[in-house]
Amino acid sequence: MANVTLDSLLTGVIGGRSAKPLEKAFGITTVEEMLWHLPRRYSRRGELTPLRGLPVGEQVTVVAQVLRATSRQMQRRRGSIVEAQITDGVGTLTLTFFNQPYRLKELSKDRQGIFAGKVSEYRGAYQLQNPDYEFFDSDDEVPGAAQLEEAAAKAWAEKPVPIYPATAQMPSWTIARAAEMALDALTEVPDPLPGELLRAEGLLSLGAAFEGVHRPRRDSDWRDAQHSLKFREAFDLQLALLHRRRQQSAEPSTPRPPGALLERFDSSLPFELTGDQRQVGAVIAEELALPHPMHRLLQGEVGSGKTLVALRAMLQVAESGGQSALLAPTEVLASQHFRSVVEALGPDLAATLNPVLITGRMPTAERRRALLSLASGNSRIAVGTHALMSEGVTFYDLGLTVIDEQHRFGVDQREALRQKGAQPHVLAMTATPIPRTVALTAFGDLETLTIRELPPGRLGIETFVVPELEMPRRAARVWERAAEDVAAGRQVYVVCPAISGGAAPNVEEGEDAPVEGPETKRPLANVTDSVAQIRAMPQFAGFRVEALSGDMPGPEKDRIMSEFAAGAIHVLVATTVIEVGVNVPNASMMIVRDADRFGVSQLHQLRGRVGRGSHPGLCLLMSVAEQGTTARERIEAVAATSDGFVLAEIDLELRREGDILGTAQSGGRSTLKLLRVTHDGELIAHARELADALLDEDPQLAGHPGLAAIIAREEAHLENLAKS
Ligand code: ADP
Ligand code: MG
Repeated sequence: MANVTLDSLLTGVIGGRSAKPLEKAFGITTVEEMLWHLPRRYSRRGELTPLRGLPVGEQVTVVAQVLRATSRQMQRRRGSIVEAQITDGVGTLTLTFFNQPYRLKELSKDRQGIFAGKVSEYRGAYQLQNPDYEFFDSDDEVPGAAQLEEAAAKAWAEKPVPIYPATAQMPSWTIARAAEMALDALTEVPDPLPGELLRAEGLLSLGAAFEGVHRPRRDSDWRDAQHSLKFREAFDLQLALLHRRRQQSAEPSTPRPPGALLERFDSSLPFELTGDQRQVGAVIAEELALPHPMHRLLQGEVGSGKTLVALRAMLQVAESGGQSALLAPTEVLASQHFRSVVEALGPDLAATLNPVLITGRMPTAERRRALLSLASGNSRIAVGTHALMSEGVTFYDLGLTVIDEQHRFGVDQREALRQKGAQPHVLAMTATPIPRTVALTAFGDLETLTIRELPPGRLGIETFVVPELEMPRRAARVWERAAEDVAAGRQVYVVCPAISGGAAPNVEEGEDAPVEGPETKRPLANVTDSVAQIRAMPQFAGFRVEALSGDMPGPEKDRIMSEFAAGAIHVLVATTVIEVGVNVPNASMMIVRDADRFGVSQLHQLRGRVGRGSHPGLCLLMSVAEQGTTARERIEAVAATSDGFVLAEIDLELRREGDILGTAQSGGRSTLKLLRVTHDGELIAHARELADALLDEDPQLAGHPGLAAIIAREEAHLENLAKS
């Protein structure tokens, strides 16, 4: 066999007949991919898997012991059945084999091994369908009972059994054998990490780590190996992100020093900037003036005044004739941003800068005019949705891209917009607080700026859960309270998880919240029915109650939104289209129906829509979720704290990893095997420091070809994402 390396094709190492099914089941084609297919857990011989509560209908792998096996003739047909029971010492599982009499001998009492198959239930008893098994003493380490030395016996009993993610065609032990063959064939595993670093961090070499994780002799072997591999995942990812950021920051870009336009704007502001706005603004002002592109993530609570910070940056860029693009995740939000930009600029500045709105649904003539204005440089501010990234949009001199609600966009989209200019500065904004570890991983190429301070005079928001089943009276009181607010001149939002009865819940553009909750017989609260119900309530007679949802035509949505902003609509019944950024200071109350259907961050965003003016905000989370359920816990958590950062952590615990770190956002290895952003924060931060130090020393990684190769691969992956 030729020299086998990590890049070698697996077929050449274990043969096509074994390699094909691995490719089909897991997409494994190379030795490296094989070795990164890591055991899910480790069992110990003698330590049996609890058989109670196995998931019916799923493929499982268990360690168990044969209790008994019997053979009998079938009654209706010719042939025999071997039936065996295996046990964990408490429960049992039945295995059935047709016309395989030799099984009786194999399945002798007390033998232990791994059993795999699909769990089914038959007459109240659990069975394994199409069972497959392998006994522990069938390999070359058979303890010949009596002759066995005591030490060897102990080693045998302690040897962990790796249990791999498996399928019906590819049982765990077949995968284990393939991994072992790959390990045996490997001549040498060059380690991309510098030896010094390995020693300083007490890490295993790559080869030793693969050995330990696939062929451990004791538990500490796989634990050490897992730690080493996990560190590598964190390090490689951070190195790639940092390298990328350094490269982008080293590119030449037009310096955009502040000037008269920004001064004019600041002197016309009806309020003082908050301390945080000033501080963050100063950093941005300084970086925009540098001859290299800025890449910043600005995070701050809803209503903390991020949009204003962004607008000031746009004015600075406009000074030298540069253009800015403000990208928003929904049409409603884009239109609203556009309106507030125009308003904040005032007539004079607006006439100078000619802001335009670009969305996918605008009339052709209007769109053409806007595009022309951008291409000629006449318009220096463009606000829009994804439509801004489309091919027809060209800028005369794009100097800054601002991305609102960054968490709705992936790295790839940021990249697509960046390519519309010659190294424009990038300011991404998010009101969904991102825990530091996630920020480092998902947005590791952006340096974070944070606004923690809210503008003065905010009266805060009170949040309560209204359990409709337990407290029907209180639920009825919700509507009375809403009518009182409306009568006092305030406005009310009512948010529902669905648009209309029978429609799929939560189908808004850009939706990303988990849709889960108690299974109730009644349909989900929806916009259409709620509008009718509220209009029918006598206390709302004489007030305007209107609907707003993502499926309405753009102009219609705009009309409703501006009428609500103007106070002509009193109750706005909507889906989550109003989730982000909508700003109507006169709105004092937010009622969320079936609140348990929304994610934690989403609810936090929703309530941020009220209490933005001089009236205190009230947020009522209505729900039929019962006490003690996760659904109820989630909304209780939202009611209990208004600290977005605390909620973000809670949200993280309740969500699956993939929701936070989609492949498009990770910008790294297509999937992380061991690293968990939720739990490995310290490791990630530490790996980042080390990666940063390494890049300080060797910016081009000339002395570390292995690492340079890893980075090249990650970057190719990113570029593909941007193109796709
Ligand atoms: P965010 O985008 O962070 O949610 P916005 O920029 O939309 O917040 O600001 C929310 C509201 O607060 C807007 O009406 C804005 O005009 C106002 N605002 C912003 N900064 C200040 C400030 N320093 N003082 C008073 N009001 C402010
Ligand atoms: Mg905003």
